[in-house]
Amino acid sequence: MDNRKVVLVGTGMVGMSFAYATLNQNACDELVLIDINKERAIGEAMDLNHGLAFSETSMQIYAGDYPDCKDADIVVICAGVNQKEGESRLELLSRNAKVFESIIKPVLQSGFDGIFLVATNPVDIMTRITYKMSGFPHNKVIGTGTTLDTARLRYLMGKYFTIDPRNMHAYVIGEHGDSEFVPWSQALIATKPVYDVIKDNKEKFTLDELNKISDKVRTSAQRIIKAKNATYYGIGMAIVRIVKAIFQNENSVLTVSSRLNGEYGLKDVFIGNPCVINRQGVKTILELPLQRDEAKKLRDSAHILCDSYDSLGFSQ
Ligand code: NAD
Repeated sequence: MDNRKVVLVGTGMVGMSFAYATLNQNACDELVLIDINKERAIGEAMDLNHGLAFSETSMQIYAGDYPDCKDADIVVICAGVNQKEGESRLELLSRNAKVFESIIKPVLQSGFDGIFLVATNPVDIMTRITYKMSGFPHNKVIGTGTTLDTARLRYLMGKYFTIDPRNMHAYVIGEHGDSEFVPWSQALIATKPVYDVIKDNKEKFTLDELNKISDKVRTSAQRIIKAKNATYYGIGMAIVRIVKAIFQNENSVLTVSSRLNGEYGLKDVFIGNPCVINRQGVKTILELPLQRDEAKKLRDSAHILCDSYDSLGFSQ
């Protein structure tokens, strides 16, 4: 690819963590920053540009506007509004749907024909809204899904088993939220199923601890938010990971939020599940051979997402 161009909409904590990680990992050649607060986008572009002399890239970084999306490869959306005191989750969702309308329309008007990558929460619903509003093919609309949760899982498993997290082949699937879960039947340490590792090392490892790990993963965000108000570095790096998988045409397996089309008997819902990611976006959705109780958890999670989406009153 000649010029890898990314437009970032939403230069808050998550957006800028992504931008900073992009610069440090040389993940694109041109990075455009857009925010409703233009001054903030301008200041962020200046700040990043002042680090260029210490980086290994000659990336072009500037504050721009929606017409800049025209020839972009990827539009990353991290824009959103925060929950007001006393506001219900649904009210927040409706306000974020309005925010997305104000973003997706001008992105489309620019002639953009690349890939949408959404991180704004609730990410599975916001990704489905992006799909609906854009009319893009489903492979070109991706949510960060449970990519971050899977990274948290691999980190905690690595610590428990004292093995490099990169050798932990395990996934968090479902909603990026309370109903997400780890299908342990699918988890491998290198090439050995985690259940076998536990069976063969009963004095060292227990199923109980595994369940504590999945609980910790599920409650990570709340604990970080309690400590420092927001989470952003991990998700920033997760977004870069997906962007690199796209630009480098990697065919990497990542647990993004994508639109199921009959997998697990589910349709239309956007939900976190391992997918093959390459230059086309979502190349393939991998359907895991889940155990019966795991399949039920996934269906329950999907129903929660569908109910939330339906409550917005969109037609699909
Ligand atoms: P933030 O408040 O720091 O940033 C949001 C930015 O969006 C602000 O700069 C704001 O000006 C901008 N914005 C608001 N409305 C806009 C509009 N109409 N057009 C353009 N820009 C607009 O918030 P944050 O901490 O960066 O979080 C951003 C989103 O990411 C939140 O929804 C958060 O919940 C989500 N998040 C997702 C994950 C994940 O795993 N997917 C993890 C952490 C946070």
